[in-house]
Amino acid sequence: ITVVKVGGAIVEDKERLSQLLKDFTAIEGKKILVHGGGRRATKVAEALGIESKMLNGRRITDADMLEVVTMVYGGLVNKNVVAMLQSNGINALGLTGADMDVIRSHKRPVRNGLDFGYAGDVDHVNGFELRNIIEQGITPVMAPLTHDGCGNILNTNADTIAAETAKALARFYEVTLIYSFEKKGVLSNPDDDNSVIPVITRNDFNKYVADGTIAGGMLPKLENAFAAVDKGVKQVIITLANAIDGKHGTIIK
Ligand code: ADP
Repeated sequence: ITVVKVGGAIVEDKERLSQLLKDFTAIEGKKILVHGGGRRATKVAEALGIESKMLNGRRITDADMLEVVTMVYGGLVNKNVVAMLQSNGINALGLTGADMDVIRSHKRPVRNGLDFGYAGDVDHVNGFELRNIIEQGITPVMAPLTHDGCGNILNTNADTIAAETAKALARFYEVTLIYSFEKKGVLSNPDDDNSVIPVITRNDFNKYVADGTIAGGMLPKLENAFAAVDKGVKQVIITLANAIDGKHGTIIK
């Protein structure tokens, strides 16, 4: 089974998204798509007069922003992706973590004075339920929203959703996890788009973090990637959005 995560910049760009979904359609076998949408949420919030607050590159989800991300991720982005996949002949089913109770989380506690608001840290992915869906020939399309089991939706990082989903399915399937985004892979020189690191180990990662080569959104992405490899996900690849055939990008070892 292949789990593909689509980065925020691709979701924003109708043409690139459409191409990515064609490539996704071409992947053989069972598959799951996980999408972000942070940039779109920021735009819609702005139109509503709601300020986007960030902390260490991550969103602070206050009560107003939680309503925005629920609408944008669970509605606008998710349903458009589902419709586009249907037009490709894929029987897609859009899901948040609350739907069929597929992903439970808890509100991230305030740590060292850092308060991310209604951000959910994943506790459990219901791999059985996801398998039941997939085995019917349905392709889940997952929005980066989870629930706490007490009636509350929580905003959850899409990279984390992809990794946790891949980990839960690794009990049943050989899983390939692909993070697609706007660069060709993890770069050894962030200013040189062609400096793709073909294979990266935990040791390399620590070294690149220490010298500042790897930073920003790539940090949690790689943390999630290594966690997936450690938990039995067969293959994790970070690659360009129009190179998700498993033959390009950076392999996480
Ligand atoms: P997504 O597009 O999946 O939402 P993020 O924006 O969270 O991803 O993280 C990817 C970003 O990480 C890239 O757009 C890039 O700006 C940044 N980045 C930092 N260091 C690197 C690196 N060494 N190689 C590639 N990208 C890097």
